[in-house]
Amino acid sequence: MAEHFQEDSVSSVAVRIDAEHPQGVLFDPHQPQLRVTDLGVVRGDGVFETMLVIDGAVRKLTPHLNRLRRSADITEIGIPPEESWRAAIQLGLEEFRTRGGLPEQLSIRLTATRGVDGEPASEDPQFAGTYWALLAPVPATMLASRGKPIAVTLLDRGYRSDAAEQSPWLMLSAKTLSYAVNMAAGRWARQHGFDDVIFLSSDGQVLEAPTSTVLMYSEDAEGTPVLTTPTLNTGILPGTSQGAIFAAAERAGWKLAYGPVTPEDLKAAPHVWLLSSVRLASPVNRIDDHQLEVSTELTATLMDFLAQDLAETYPTED
Ligand code: PLP
Repeated sequence: MAEHFQEDSVSSVAVRIDAEHPQGVLFDPHQPQLRVTDLGVVRGDGVFETMLVIDGAVRKLTPHLNRLRRSADITEIGIPPEESWRAAIQLGLEEFRTRGGLPEQLSIRLTATRGVDGEPASEDPQFAGTYWALLAPVPATMLASRGKPIAVTLLDRGYRSDAAEQSPWLMLSAKTLSYAVNMAAGRWARQHGFDDVIFLSSDGQVLEAPTSTVLMYSEDAEGTPVLTTPTLNTGILPGTSQGAIFAAAERAGWKLAYGPVTPEDLKAAPHVWLLSSVRLASPVNRIDDHQLEVSTELTATLMDFLAQDLAETYPTED
């Protein structure tokens, strides 16, 4: 496997899935591909997953595919079976190997849209929409910022904590393509001197960040580590990084807890991180004007928990 990505090789690889190519077919991501009437574009009507590949092994592949299925079920978008996505990913990885070697770290983004309004791509609902996988090297800036402390601001998301239950049409916990608001919140934070955002419900519960899950660390009276994350009842996205960390922490004898979490709880926590698949664990050193202590050691432990990923490593052909 090449240490560094070769200059003469492709910078990213794309694989389409359709009824004629249920195992996927390569296409050039630098050429136009989508119909302008695709509902993924005109309405943000689609779902996606982003995952990390290290040395050819896809981290948490099964949880990501399960969550894609869950998002598709919530949005009622037909998607290809799991085997199709697995084959498409494998094809993309093989293409990197063929064209000059796998970068040490890749991100894979799976996207499924509802397709073109009134013109299903296939009569088979599993292939009626538009589906692709995009594989790209993790940018150097992302690699350099991993594990670095960040300052966050608490912003009202404008929904009550019971909105997921009371207003299921909001599809709050689906990972849909409609991330414009999440991106706008991030811009707002950066314009105001912060690196990221933690959303609150309108009734004051801690939810999640625009692209990551909130994790708190404390210790009980006996000194046993306790990890706490906000409850999923609020309609936040079930994080696969949080799930993997919880699985490894439980094996290590740590205690696990699920919110409701208030802003006061968050500020009282000895340590807080934002977790996501490609960024991994980012320690929070400031929440608005409240300073938090950062533990390099605990951040390294969380990274280690994520790297364990024992059961979910994607098998490679070679
Ligand atoms: N919450 C939101 C809203 C996200 O978009 C993401 C990831 O993109 C996460 C949490 C973290 O999820 P994961 O750890 O599975 O990447």
